Amino acid sequence: MKRFVLLLMMAAFLLTQNLNARTGADYTPGATAFSVETNEDAQQVKLRIYKDGLGGKPVKTINMKRAQAGGTLWQTTVKGDLKGKFYTFDVKYNGKFYGECPGVWATAVGVNGKRGAIVDMSGTNPQGWQTDRRPVIPAKDLILYEMHHRDFSIDESSGIEHKGKFLALTEPRAIEHLKALGVNAVHILPSFDYASVDETRLDEPQYNWGYDPVNYNVPEGGYSTDPYKPEVRINEFKQMVQALHKAGIKVILDVVYNHTWNIDGSNFQRTRPDYYYRKNADGSYSNGSGCGNETASEREGMRQFMIESVKYWVEEYHIDGFRFDLMGVHDVETMNAIRAAVPNDIFIYGEGWSAGSCAYSGELAMKANINKMPGIAAFSDEMRDALRGPWDSNSKAAFLGGVKGNEESIKFGIVGAIQHPGVDYSQVNYSKAPYALEPTQMIAYVSCHDDMCLVDRLKASVKGITVDELIRLDLMAQTVVLTSQGVPFLLSGEEMLRDKKGVHNSYESPDSINHLDWDNLECYPQVMEYYKGLIAMRKAHPAFHMGSADMVRRNLDFLPTQNCLVAYHINGRNVPGEQWGDIYVAFNAHKRARTIEIPEGTYTVVCRNIKCDQAGLTVVKGGKVTIPAQSAIILHN
Ligand code: CA
Repeated sequence: MKRFVLLLMMAAFLLTQNLNARTGADYTPGATAFSVETNEDAQQVKLRIYKDGLGGKPVKTINMKRAQAGGTLWQTTVKGDLKGKFYTFDVKYNGKFYGECPGVWATAVGVNGKRGAIVDMSGTNPQGWQTDRRPVIPAKDLILYEMHHRDFSIDESSGIEHKGKFLALTEPRAIEHLKALGVNAVHILPSFDYASVDETRLDEPQYNWGYDPVNYNVPEGGYSTDPYKPEVRINEFKQMVQALHKAGIKVILDVVYNHTWNIDGSNFQRTRPDYYYRKNADGSYSNGSGCGNETASEREGMRQFMIESVKYWVEEYHIDGFRFDLMGVHDVETMNAIRAAVPNDIFIYGEGWSAGSCAYSGELAMKANINKMPGIAAFSDEMRDALRGPWDSNSKAAFLGGVKGNEESIKFGIVGAIQHPGVDYSQVNYSKAPYALEPTQMIAYVSCHDDMCLVDRLKASVKGITVDELIRLDLMAQTVVLTSQGVPFLLSGEEMLRDKKGVHNSYESPDSINHLDWDNLECYPQVMEYYKGLIAMRKAHPAFHMGSADMVRRNLDFLPTQNCLVAYHINGRNVPGEQWGDIYVAFNAHKRARTIEIPEGTYTVVCRNIKCDQAGLTVVKGGKVTIPAQSAIILHN
């Protein structure tokens, strides 16, 4: 009996080992072990070894063997030191080879990710990497900064040497800017190997956001100084993480497991045809991503792939968090399994929607299901669109444009999408019920890489807007974001009053549309000053990021709502660590000054008329308090 149990345990152990296997190339100086997962009906797998990452004939071709009869894992070990060589797998089904590819688990590749590379990963670490640690910042204290490598540094005005590269974020000019602004987490747009930038032509300007994944577990070559040398991109990515960590800034990776660049040429399809993708009843591929395909996270192999991939980025690259593109394409169970597989301090959030209907009848990781995914956050389009206007129109205005009826949606965002007695959910624009269990499950934002940036949106939606109005409304919008109990999120360059010349889907627009103009820091110094002051105030005052739904319900209450005016009070006395007593915050989107009524007393004004300084700007008496046109006010006693 005992022996039977032992056998069972061994079988279970072997099964787990198989499921968790990160296939690909496992290098030692004496030999390299190769493995690849296929469907059951694979007939043959060829491994080819090459001298280069592109071109040339194989120096060796080997027929791989099944690890077990009838199994799906194929293996072979090649003796000798293969460091610096490249490899491909080629799998045969129904008498036909599906084409060479690096497999789904390459951790290093040659140029354009066509071949896997044999690399000694321990040799890719920058000096001091062993002592690199993820900064300790609880979710409630995070201030996210979403950036694209090229947008950030490509313009001459950036003064950055490694323009458009991972290394840009190691330079003092970049680090000092981020520190001055006060953000503590950089969310980098897709930085894994993607398809749309040709890495053999990096001397020509090419641009893409990068939502077209090829190799999920390798940094993108276009952001490295040499995409032909596989270890360079790995080392430079780590240098970037290390430099940001030294500055106390977390690094969050934008991950796009919901679809691949293409179906037929993808590493998924070439090794396990149709296994990783969802299909409709008629046999066609489902397209919940809007990009031509959608992956099947509910399948064991896809789920394990996502879990292992996320764990790999945490272990190998010390990544601090993940932003899941179209998280609503994935199933709830997979997202919860990912949450459970990584340390608690890894911050996870995503888009709680899909871009089309998904061929899955179970529960999807949509915004409305966030309450079934503790520790995972979703972007709030409720507050975003209540501020700037709806996503399906570039020119429709909302609160910022003086359109009434958006007040409850803004209140929804202020409390962090939790249940709160002061919010009338029947009046909230998309969600008619709270979705978050805790306020840290809501991302508060008014703009991101998608759609227009804030300046363009204001210009497109507010008729005859003046520069003065533009700045007032911009700063008020970010004041709503940065005083929200959710986790605030800023699009890079908003602090420089960036514009994209009115282009909303700039995913492949040239640098001239997407680049940040750093000269704007001198043209509009009041904008950066305000953002800095506001972020510093948030960080210093726990009242603005209580981090617990119970505390928000107990200590935050709304003043009577007026058309285009939202105001609230926080009882700072009940918030641990808070120095301020009664805190009043109000947003007035009218073109005229308005008033609110607060109890008599003496209050210090810390934010008014496009100035924000937590040390205090002036003092006012209670009773009727005036809020200047198109701006925010914050005061306390
Ligand atoms: Ca690439």
